[in-house]
Amino acid sequence: MRIIDNIPNSWCEPWKIKTIEHISLSTREEREAALEAAGWNTFLLPSRLVFIDLLTDSGTNAMSDEQWAAIMTGDEAYAGSKDFERLEAVVQEVYGYKHLIPTHQGRGAEHILSQTLIRKGQYVPGNMYFTTTKFHQEYAGGIFEDVIVDEAFDPNLEFPFKGNIDIDKLDALVKRVGPEQIAYVSLETNVNMCGGQPISMANARALHEYCSKRGILVMLDATRAVENCYFIKTREPGYADKSIADILHELCGYTDGCTISGKKDCLVNIGGFLALRDDKLALRARELLVAFEGLQTYGGMAGRDMGAMAVGILESLHYDYIRARVEQVAYLGKRLDSFGVPIVRPYGGHAIYLNAKQILPHVPQEKYPAQRIAGELYLEAGVRSMERGIVSAGRDHDGNEYKPALELVRLTLPRRVYTQSHLDVVSEACARVCKRADSINGLKMVHEPGSLRFFQARFEPLGVPAPGAKKAMAAASR
Ligand SMILES: *Cc1c(COP(=O)(O)O)cnc(C)c1O
Repeated sequence: MRIIDNIPNSWCEPWKIKTIEHISLSTREEREAALEAAGWNTFLLPSRLVFIDLLTDSGTNAMSDEQWAAIMTGDEAYAGSKDFERLEAVVQEVYGYKHLIPTHQGRGAEHILSQTLIRKGQYVPGNMYFTTTKFHQEYAGGIFEDVIVDEAFDPNLEFPFKGNIDIDKLDALVKRVGPEQIAYVSLETNVNMCGGQPISMANARALHEYCSKRGILVMLDATRAVENCYFIKTREPGYADKSIADILHELCGYTDGCTISGKKDCLVNIGGFLALRDDKLALRARELLVAFEGLQTYGGMAGRDMGAMAVGILESLHYDYIRARVEQVAYLGKRLDSFGVPIVRPYGGHAIYLNAKQILPHVPQEKYPAQRIAGELYLEAGVRSMERGIVSAGRDHDGNEYKPALELVRLTLPRRVYTQSHLDVVSEACARVCKRADSINGLKMVHEPGSLRFFQARFEPLGVPAPGAKKAMAAASR
């Protein structure tokens, strides 16, 4: 017998599969018809014609048997449900905030937070932005200002904490407008728009120090905080031996409250919440809650959904779980790397992002290269992804298109849903699309909604680029 020397020490999922859902690949003709009918917008495709669905990790989680058990024992009392008490106790223990304000999903919490804290004309600095977060800040009369570190804008840079806030940028804004003109600082974990990139504990601590001295509140978007904590544990000195639960508790400790979309980290299919430390703020938020969502002990959720979320939050903190979650994303990243597909570095916590500017250098950003690639990926193998570039960024107050530095296609992994072999198929499809990039042109937008346009916009494909166009355009844009 001869055993090799370097035996790998692989991770694996700390669960086995109990129920399955059948999926099948449609024909190329069916996909062509479906994509045309959907106006080349992957949000408008019917799920029955999608083979591997990497549109989002939002609400697409597979629940555990224990979560399903909580669904069955849910208390649907209109007032004072035991599942509210259960979730409240978990949120207080895990995140450390005193007040739980349950909402139908993350944007419900963002709406209430924005209406509670923002006065018209005030600034809301943040580390890049999230679509619905920015929408609610602007809807409440706020002005969003990006204060993320410059490293975030370079997709090829290996930098461990690209989500960090640049305190100097924040300070410049505070000096320019005065601290009373800052509604609060919006701090997102695992920043979605720059590739699922984490913030460091040191940055959260420094931000807390800066803001508390000036009476400025810090509100955490803790939607993917657990995944962020895995990166802190594996990348930040001093945290390797701390538990995910302890790291999360410390992180939240540097903030005054949080909004959460439970559809991500919390391992459920629907729900969200706002959590706050301050009694007076919570009182005001609850007044809005009963008007816009529901009574204070269910807000926007059924009792059973609060129960499943309470179980899901506790499951999400297990090291073996979060390791398998984030390392599965890295597996997809490594496969794509091995084919030479241009992706954002380092690998994100919930998704791998294709760099559309590098894949289609001959297609200018106004012709929506990332949106086009998302369509091509669907045609290639029934894989559904999402544009995170100029379409998602929308328009400013003067009606001009924001031109974000990053033009990306997001391949998002639902939690506990797909296996490595699904990801093999996905990475091969990406490689095949890149291989024929020369023959791929951009899109023309033919229907544009007034807000959050990426959800419902419609497009038509532009014709095949002329031979040599790729080289000429790439040279001209240099
Ligand atoms: C999904 C998400 C939201 C919005 O939550 P919904 O549940 O979709 O309303 C807010 N912030 C981040 C970072 C998200 O990923």
